Amino acid sequence: MAIQTIGVIGAGQMGNGIAHVMAVAEYDVLLTDVSQQALDKALETIRGNLSRQVSRGKLEESVMEASLSRIKTTLQLADLGQSDLVIEAATERESVKRAIFDDLQPHLQDHTILTSNTSSISITRLASRTDRPERFMGFHFMNPVPVMQLVELIRGIATDEPTYKACLGVVERLGKTAASAEDFPAFIVNRILMPMINEAVYTLYEGVGNVNSIDEALKLGANHPMGPLELADFIGLDTCLAIMNVLHDGLADTKYRPCPLLTKYVEAGWLGRKTQRGFYDYRGETPVPTR
Ligand code: NAD
Repeated sequence: MAIQTIGVIGAGQMGNGIAHVMAVAEYDVLLTDVSQQALDKALETIRGNLSRQVSRGKLEESVMEASLSRIKTTLQLADLGQSDLVIEAATERESVKRAIFDDLQPHLQDHTILTSNTSSISITRLASRTDRPERFMGFHFMNPVPVMQLVELIRGIATDEPTYKACLGVVERLGKTAASAEDFPAFIVNRILMPMINEAVYTLYEGVGNVNSIDEALKLGANHPMGPLELADFIGLDTCLAIMNVLHDGLADTKYRPCPLLTKYVEAGWLGRKTQRGFYDYRGETPVPTR
């Protein structure tokens, strides 16, 4: 199946990154959001990130301009009807995603593949509520999209082989690598990564180490490029907690119990970098541990 036009729903941190890499790979991109401000900010971010790639010699200036010209923004979800592939990257709430698919469906062509960039919601359940469960799958990019090499491709129970192959072809054209995952809570990366981050928070909670010693220990002792608490702040502590809850509920095993200290940081609104405070305080020149 030839894919040339890609619809991206949600112009937040993931949506703008997805639009960026698709445009560089010479796909035509239709980017939508409910907020004009989010669309304007996304285009500004994409321009900034492309310029950085140009200044580092990773991209030709002409490629940057051509890429930007391939991205069209719209507030009308119906405009995405001409897409061959749709990647939904809106807010991580099932009711939001379901409403998007309901509204979009009447405008789609028969061959259009629908996908979601969800980090945790069941692909099979999302697919079952659409008119095309066999042409539905998980297309899970990592953050930041232009930098991270991996894309997880998640098949729902009904996903057919041509759909999987078509999505795999897109990942390859992006120059990225696909990991194929079955549809179980949090898929592969987060199934392994989030319990490690949660355990780091338990290690802090129990006083085994402080923020600095825990992060240093994993950087120097396990050769991780970032410490687990630093990484949690980067991902967003609300996101980490939401994924732990999905693992805990979906697999019904106490080993996935979210650490009470993680819950407390989220209750305080200390969500990491995006709110300037999490396991580190980012309001000054250098991050300062909060414990
Ligand atoms: P974000 O909050 O930065 O962006 C979400 C965007 O969706 C916002 O601009 C919002 O206005 C828009 N939106 C909300 N409702 C909408 C609707 N009905 N129609 C169109 N747009 C709508 O969130 P994000 O971090 O970009 O996450 C988006 C998705 O990507 C989520 O499903 C998340 O689980 C997944 N994801 C996130 C990460 C991460 O590290 N942040 C990594 C992988 C996957």
